[in-house]
Amino acid sequence: MTPGEREQKVKALIDKLCLTRKLKRSEWIELIRERTPAAADYLFELARVVRIRHYGHDIYIRGLIEFTNYCKNDCYYCGIRKSNTYAQRYRLSKEDILSCCDQGYELGFRTFVLQGGEDGWFTDERLCDIVSAIRNSFPDCAVTLSVGERSRKSYQQLYEAGADRYLLRHETYNEDHYNRLHPPQMSASHRKKCLWDLKRSGYQTGTGFMVGVPFQTPENLADDMLFLARLNPQMVGIGPFVPHHDTPFADAPGGTVELTLFMLGLIRLLLPRVLLPATTALGTIDPEGREKGILAGANVVMPNLSPLQVREKYLLYDNKICTGDEAAESLNHLKERMEKIGYHITVDRGDSLNI
Ligand code: SAH
Repeated sequence: MTPGEREQKVKALIDKLCLTRKLKRSEWIELIRERTPAAADYLFELARVVRIRHYGHDIYIRGLIEFTNYCKNDCYYCGIRKSNTYAQRYRLSKEDILSCCDQGYELGFRTFVLQGGEDGWFTDERLCDIVSAIRNSFPDCAVTLSVGERSRKSYQQLYEAGADRYLLRHETYNEDHYNRLHPPQMSASHRKKCLWDLKRSGYQTGTGFMVGVPFQTPENLADDMLFLARLNPQMVGIGPFVPHHDTPFADAPGGTVELTLFMLGLIRLLLPRVLLPATTALGTIDPEGREKGILAGANVVMPNLSPLQVREKYLLYDNKICTGDEAAESLNHLKERMEKIGYHITVDRGDSLNI
């Protein structure tokens, strides 16, 4: 095939995805492997049409509260892994968390995302107490949890305490690839079991993966897309892998903006109504990353509401943004930036239409 013919083939696969929302594994691989800049532009145009059809030009905001960086896990890519003895550990109190929510509510946030390492201090009892306190103080807000793998019973209790949504990236579908990114105590199958448990417990569920994480192949990404099609989550969080200097992957190359945007566009076509954030990691590797993410089909941004003193300690990767200005200041800045590309931030819980 000539390069021109290859490009036509890729565009034809994009059309097929857009129309049928179904590709074979071999087609996903070809689409990802043979992509070109012109095919990507074509994809983004279609992704924007689909996004605008369902969500208009609205952008939902989620207030991210990074409430603990203690973690019992040792993921090779992550800056808050247990073995990183240089990380300064912190834990927010219930009062700290509620005051972040107060501040966020004033600013117009109607979703709070509590994210943290897998910190045993936050037993079901303690976490349920925090969730129900937020639920009672902010009845018109959604509470999202992102605290890793827990038992079915724990997920259920947290749901009953008032959590509506849960983010748990599957990280990578392929078992062997998963094992190259995690220590032996962790497994792809357990992670997936947790995702099905979350769905069964009633959560609006989010999953996702890193783009350009070490050893990732187009085949792995194809499997990730097939998994997304099967799980049919309400949210998908993807961002580039960004190395952290005190991890085993310190010297690995990071993921690219180009491939991350391409994957965002594909996800918008695969799951037209999904909530798709333009992530902090994307904003970290490119100063215009979040705008580019929105223009590739994303419809959510997640500004940081964590107290300024702890933000730099929740360092999953190097140079993470949002460590400087106040939440209010950065929100105004973000609003202006989104207006510039023709989109507006809305005050809304922003529930998924994908139910
Ligand atoms: N402990 C929770 C939250 C993890 S942090 C959990 O297990 O779900 C949220 C996400 O950050 C992770 O799922 C991972 O995909 C991403 N992440 C971690 N380290 C990263 C890095 N070095 N570069 C980019 N993303 C990273």
